[in-house]
Amino acid sequence: MAASKEAEAVRGKFVVVGGGIAGVTCAEELAAQFPSDRVYLLTASPLIKATTNLKQVSRTLEAFDVEEQEGTALEGRYPNISVVQSAVRELRSQEQEVVTEDGARYRYNKLCLCAGAKAKIIAGGNPYVLGIRDTDSAREFQRHLSSARRVVIVGNGGIALELVYELEGCQAIWAIRDGAIGNTFFDAGAAQFLLPQLGADKPPAPLPCRRTKYTTEPPLGGGGGSVGSALGPDWHEGLNLKATGAFSHRVHIEAQCEVRRILLREEREGLNITALPFPGESDSAPSTDWPVYVQLTNGKTYGCDFIVSATGVVPNIEPFVTGNQFDVAEDGGLRVNDHMETSVRNIYAAGDICTASWEPSALWQQMRLWTQARQMGWYAGKCMAADFLQQPIEMDFCFELFAHVTKFFNYKVILLGKYNAQGLGSDHELLLRCTKGREYVKAVLRGGRMVGAVLIGDTDLEETFENLMLNQMDLSPYGERLLDPDVDIEDYFD
Ligand code: FAD
Repeated sequence: MAASKEAEAVRGKFVVVGGGIAGVTCAEELAAQFPSDRVYLLTASPLIKATTNLKQVSRTLEAFDVEEQEGTALEGRYPNISVVQSAVRELRSQEQEVVTEDGARYRYNKLCLCAGAKAKIIAGGNPYVLGIRDTDSAREFQRHLSSARRVVIVGNGGIALELVYELEGCQAIWAIRDGAIGNTFFDAGAAQFLLPQLGADKPPAPLPCRRTKYTTEPPLGGGGGSVGSALGPDWHEGLNLKATGAFSHRVHIEAQCEVRRILLREEREGLNITALPFPGESDSAPSTDWPVYVQLTNGKTYGCDFIVSATGVVPNIEPFVTGNQFDVAEDGGLRVNDHMETSVRNIYAAGDICTASWEPSALWQQMRLWTQARQMGWYAGKCMAADFLQQPIEMDFCFELFAHVTKFFNYKVILLGKYNAQGLGSDHELLLRCTKGREYVKAVLRGGRMVGAVLIGDTDLEETFENLMLNQMDLSPYGERLLDPDVDIEDYFD
């Protein structure tokens, strides 16, 4: 009789999968609540991501630094955490165990899946198409860029926005599906406010930045493969994004189009398709001189050195769904309830891998962002602990109001609540205030109450607006005076 060759399973009350912000925060919370129990953090990447210097900017806005660290640094802070660098290749939910690449089995009472998401890449496998997701892919992008004359950037989310602004010395054709840039984050008005920055030179040095810069050195212990942690805020600051040209920005936007097909030089010649020169450039390289060509759905074709696909992410669920009955959302994430529990018993999920499927507060929505990964990881840890102890737990306050602070085109950008009037239909009004080159303020009101805001520049309005949204105070008596720059609204409402 063939004896089972499987080694005995390691037993842990709590097992967390994923060394990104969600997984690390979850493991930390569990380790703090159960100091005499071992918490296993299983991760595919050689380095983990830790949150440091967490500061509560206001009730819902938070700022923190992110550090890429060796697993031993986390074990040093929490001696009851064991970081295991080996990807999970199988989940056996009936047996309550996971199996890692190295064949080890970990049996859990409660498991949290925090394996993040993968870049959605157009024409995956095409050597001229790059995605940017983790440190390795960012480094590869930098390598390609160093000798590039022109790139085509496809996508309109945060990564594309940052990239277009950060690239220097290289022509960029930016293909977006929408009518205006950055529509994940703001409306056409804000896009208009930001656009002049693309025509201007970048300031010589970046504004002071509190967060850790990502290094372009190879991580210790080798590359992270295709399942490394997602990059995050300021990911480009450790990278030299300068190409060969002696100029700053040269960006041409092709709006309301997608990529129809990608052609090699010979294919384009065989099909006799005419490629366009870079618009407005008389000294542009000949349009027949490129290794690869992008044909857009608006009929235009441009040559380039390579293409960056920044077209969003898909939750990384494959290793876990085989043989298990997860409820998977339309966006490909594992559905979680208001306890961060998936549909499979004793399995929780947090961060980019999950889809929030509870009835959300009227002012909150999920976005696959750094801050939400931290909040979800922390809350998932709390819920796992409470459920284990059979104690009740209430939804955390951070899910009351969507709040995100970031930087685009060198401006501070704060998004609050239904900042783009998401889901409001025509049942809202907008108040706007814009000073060219300085600030853009948009308030979204419904029934006289503020439900969202976009603040670009140093407006100093975030706390007041946050309070107005949380209090749901009737603002109709103030009308347009609400944004009058001569009225100090903080005095009214603070
Ligand atoms: P991740 O950070 O992706 O971590 C997933 C972890 O799971 C990794 O450690 C990985 O190795 C591990 N893993 C994967 N598969 C397995 C497996 N089978 N077994 C074990 N471990 C596994 N957000 C912002 O808020 N602001 C920004 O400015 C911003 N910029 C971004 C720029 C870029 C280029 C990218 C790619 C993302 C950006 N984001 C930004 C999004 C942000 O980085 C993510 O939302 C966040 O990192 C998600 O955290 P996570 O812990 O869920 O997943």
